[in-house]
Amino acid sequence: MHPLYSELIELSIKAKKHSYSPYSKFSVGAALLTSNNKIYTGTNVESASYSLSICAERVAFTKAVSEGEKKFRAIAISASIKDYIYPCGACRQFMYEFGKDLDVIIIKSKKDFLIKKLADLLPGAFDKRSLKL
Ligand SMILES: [Zn+2]
Repeated sequence: MHPLYSELIELSIKAKKHSYSPYSKFSVGAALLTSNNKIYTGTNVESASYSLSICAERVAFTKAVSEGEKKFRAIAISASIKDYIYPCGACRQFMYEFGKDLDVIIIKSKKDFLIKKLADLLPGAFDKRSLKL
């Protein structure tokens, strides 16, 4: 396990406090580690027009990419439930754009988590190779 993963897990758990989830009451936090060891956090942001809501993972990625980051090592995800929180299908696809080797840290608690490769969470993924005719 990378030495920064413990910090990433803690930041993911802390990020939940900024969740804007008045409709679902389901807080999610994410912390994204770049290949050059910078960390970007994100939280879910809901909208009264429900389909416009965005997940914590995609918030973390858009923050990082909008600041010039393109290479990532891992993302830690935590939620306001007492079980492991897996990324939704949309986030799996979104994150795949930046690499199938991403470590996805699925947190149940600070000391109880799983580390999965993104490629294992999204087999047969659609990616840029799929666009070649
Ligand atoms: Zn999602």
